[in-house]
Amino acid sequence: MKNIFLAAAMLTTIVSCGQKELVTDAPVTPPPVVPPVVASFRVLDSTQMDNDLKALSSDAFKGRKAGMAEVVLSHQLIQSRLRQAGVDSFATGFMQEFSYLGLDRKNFLGLVKGTLYPDKYIVVGAHFDHLGVDGSGVVYHGADDNASGVAATLAMAKYFHQHKPTHSIIFALWDGEEIGLRGSAYFVNNLPAGLDLSKIKFNLNADMLARSDNNSIWASGLSHYPEYAYLVDSIKSKSATQLKSGYDKPTDPQDWTFLSDHGSFYNKNIPYLYLGVEDHPDYHKVTDTYDKINPDRFTENANIFAQMAILLDRKLN
Ligand SMILES: [Zn+2]
Repeated sequence: MKNIFLAAAMLTTIVSCGQKELVTDAPVTPPPVVPPVVASFRVLDSTQMDNDLKALSSDAFKGRKAGMAEVVLSHQLIQSRLRQAGVDSFATGFMQEFSYLGLDRKNFLGLVKGTLYPDKYIVVGAHFDHLGVDGSGVVYHGADDNASGVAATLAMAKYFHQHKPTHSIIFALWDGEEIGLRGSAYFVNNLPAGLDLSKIKFNLNADMLARSDNNSIWASGLSHYPEYAYLVDSIKSKSATQLKSGYDKPTDPQDWTFLSDHGSFYNKNIPYLYLGVEDHPDYHKVTDTYDKINPDRFTENANIFAQMAILLDRKLN
């Protein structure tokens, strides 16, 4: 039905333009086409993001926990997306392996080199691990926490390969966040060859982008780094989601400074911004499932994350 109305509207436009031309006998200058804000704001591949969120949070992926055989499905999905995106890897490949509590764990790192400042790096990241299964074998799906952040980060790798940034960007998918930010901590203490901490200028961390039941999402970290307030100020007026700032000091209801992987960067005095929704009733429960996601809200929030990276790349010294 929508297509029929659209066709009718186009026909009306054509007819009215034709009538105008006949009456005035003047050349018709079409009005400039101003794209709606939403079209330019949403730059990420929403179909890919939806597919990845759905797959990562499915029963088959068994809660994405190191030590379980099925965790290999998460590794394969992440690696194949990085490969499809066309991004580079460090010399040892996309995988950064480490061991913790006797289990092999894996971070994944994609790289797009900057066109103007290749030695200045922004790390865009999200943890892919979650809680496995409960004592009865029921899967902790982790759709919001954090299949959502992974799907957004992988879509950003694709976007920035096609729209080259001026600074180098590392797209990081962390393991071991749920057991104490282990993957990101390993990374900052064991950087790939050629990289040192002084070259890492910022960390953007996504953890829980998809629920936003009250239509709000939080940017946390600006009380530590107020000079980056522009990342919130410039974007909040452009988004349908209410983008709020807080949860980063002791006087707030909660202080999220060390509650996700940005904490590993904060420990090294690297500025960060964390984007995520408030805790919800399904947080860390087996009911954090794909069907609870509002796809449009998720798409919007993932694009807030992307717009922060685009702006940061433009403004970072
Ligand atoms: Zn999380």
